[in-house]
Amino acid sequence: MVASAAVSRSMSGLVSVQPKIGVLALQGDFREHSAMLAGMGIEAPEVRLPSHLEGLDGLIIPGGESTTITKLMDRWGFRDGLPRAAASGMAVWGTCAGMIVLAKHLVDPYPEPLGLLDVTVSRNWFGRQVDSFEADFAISGVEGGPFRAIFIRAPVIERTGPTVEVLASLPDGHPVAVRQGRILATAFHPELTEDDRVHRMFLGMSVEGPLQSEGRPAGASVGSVPDFHREIGASRS
Ligand code: GLN
Repeated sequence: MVASAAVSRSMSGLVSVQPKIGVLALQGDFREHSAMLAGMGIEAPEVRLPSHLEGLDGLIIPGGESTTITKLMDRWGFRDGLPRAAASGMAVWGTCAGMIVLAKHLVDPYPEPLGLLDVTVSRNWFGRQVDSFEADFAISGVEGGPFRAIFIRAPVIERTGPTVEVLASLPDGHPVAVRQGRILATAFHPELTEDDRVHRMFLGMSVEGPLQSEGRPAGASVGSVPDFHREIGASRS
């Protein structure tokens, strides 16, 4: 995939990179992700067809209902299209149901996940009586103190493959945020908070790979990614 991140040079000569991020808009809380990104100055197209993946640096699969999302993905051809786009460098982040969709294996009999992330996930692990809760914990790669994570009928990760990095776990040891290459998954919903730090981490991830693997835009340096983080951070404060 050709990197489509827009590159601009400020008056100080610093280069900033603005990734092109799409939000899968078949079902679930895609509008909340779009609103978070809009608050960060990122216009994120709604992805409803595999052709909309063309030229994206990153895709967010929102929370919702994983059986419904996978059914709709099958109907519209994402089961081929999404792994192909991911294989050519598009970063992908799944939140909650999105994490279930990305998993290699589920403890549960259905849905059939895409298998892009080498984890085994248990859906609805917290059961019905504790449908929702919030927890504060540090996330590796997210600076500035603990993150308040919102869990809604949330899954947990029961097994991680050898190349999966655990970014955050619950006190009982279950991982709830993981990264494998350019795939990110969180069992919780950063899009339902006012805290854009996980979104910022994903934006950083989505410009890392293409710029490194396919050559950097003229004048850009590796330093442009931290610079991008700073500019986004400033726009929210
Ligand atoms: N438990 C839901 C499922 O299996 C996910 C819940 C969520 O995305 N908040 O799809």
